[in-house]
Amino acid sequence: MTPIEALEEYFGYASFRSRQAEIVDHVLSGRHTMVVAPTGMGKSICFQIPALCFSESDYPLTLVLSPLVALMQDQVDSLRRRGIDAAFINSLLDRDTRLQRYDEVASGKYRLLYVTPERFRKQDFCEVIGKRNIKLLAIDEAHCVSQWGHDFRPDYSRVGEIRSRLGSPTTIALTATATAEVRADIRKQLGLEGDMRLFHEGIARENLAIDAIAAYDEDEKYTQLITALRDPDYSGGSVILYFSLIKTLERFSDRLSADAIDHVAYHGDLSRGARRAIQDEFMNGDADLVLATGAFGMGVDKADIRMVIHCETPGSIESYYQEIGRAGRDGKPSRCLWLYDQNDLATQMQFITWANPEAEYFGRVYNLLVEHNEPCRAFGLDWMNQRLQRVSKHDHRLATVLAMLDRYEVLANKSPPGCFEVLSELPDRFRDDAALEEKRIADQKRLYAMVEFFQADDKKAFLNQYFLGDE
Ligand code: ADP
Repeated sequence: MTPIEALEEYFGYASFRSRQAEIVDHVLSGRHTMVVAPTGMGKSICFQIPALCFSESDYPLTLVLSPLVALMQDQVDSLRRRGIDAAFINSLLDRDTRLQRYDEVASGKYRLLYVTPERFRKQDFCEVIGKRNIKLLAIDEAHCVSQWGHDFRPDYSRVGEIRSRLGSPTTIALTATATAEVRADIRKQLGLEGDMRLFHEGIARENLAIDAIAAYDEDEKYTQLITALRDPDYSGGSVILYFSLIKTLERFSDRLSADAIDHVAYHGDLSRGARRAIQDEFMNGDADLVLATGAFGMGVDKADIRMVIHCETPGSIESYYQEIGRAGRDGKPSRCLWLYDQNDLATQMQFITWANPEAEYFGRVYNLLVEHNEPCRAFGLDWMNQRLQRVSKHDHRLATVLAMLDRYEVLANKSPPGCFEVLSELPDRFRDDAALEEKRIADQKRLYAMVEFFQADDKKAFLNQYFLGDE
């Protein structure tokens, strides 16, 4: 089957968009590829079409590494609806289903298989995948590879090892947000320096109006928000309001309710079920206005989002850009507005502190888990948090440490009960203040870039320079 035939038959699209055809040809000729393009541009097609075009005779498999379990399910569901033989394997599957999938994969079923890099920690999975002919390795959200990216995942730093274990197949890395530094890192980690062609779509989205307004305090922000919400130029679709703090989100929600403005609220303190219900309500068009923290939006592919308004300052250009990328997917004029109060920087500085505990703190958590394992299990995380610090109930450092130790396989999981199961020594990198400090400074620089962005007259030119930079 040729690429265009596959595009028509499975997706029902008459033609490729922008550089998709060129990228697909490049991949099919067995050359390594990096695609940087805004969310919604159709990056997935760049590995899905090749996956369907490989000759069937040798049971080819395209393995897709994806960081997010939730996203994986949505993507596979939509492929299956199109009649494409795709599946995922992740921790949400029950044991029987997982074993069944393993058998199916081993016996040659599926053209596309989605997994997280963590899956390669499992010996039985490695054996199963070793039986397949991996024609293409697709690394989605490839910026997660880089320590300098905004969303580093330690298991992603093993992609090089994973790739060689798979027999060094043709590789395609895809991301919406990669600075020159991050792109270099991706190539280095994969061992593909000088051998991975970049297809960069630029970051311009013509239909997005990008602006930022200074606000002196929360009252002023709220007034500006209401003015924006009433703007007839951007009416008729949905709106996302982003917040950094749940308590700010709740204050805005109360004020909107008092002004009889219908909305829903989405944040990490809600149960998984409640979050899912709100996301569905938003996707179905039953709720047009959603107030959300950064947790909202992964996998939100709604065409008619007319406005994305940041009511608090995001921590980096990368996350800001990813969030505004949800606006205007239908190509119609859409507005991205950032309401900037200098005081927000203090919140972000606090986040940076919490996200970067010192070596001494890592050591204390580790020792507590090892030396007082029984009470940790019995009394739980709140008790641990109290033992570790008495300043703030909301100090997130413990959660950061558990997540990092989980990612580095020091603990069996980042949450109970697995987080009480210590599997190995504390790695040197968490004992080394210089290395930890380097990461904290990188986070601060990213926040500082937000301030420079606010000051920039030409916002789009700034974003272009930030992401395109120099190769
Ligand atoms: P990305 O991975 O870049 O965020 P997706 O691959 O999810 O983007 O694609 C976004 C949407 O665009 C999807 O609904 C996809 O089916 C659609 N799409 C992709 N390529 C084409 C095309 N050539 N013609 C029409 N629609 C397309």
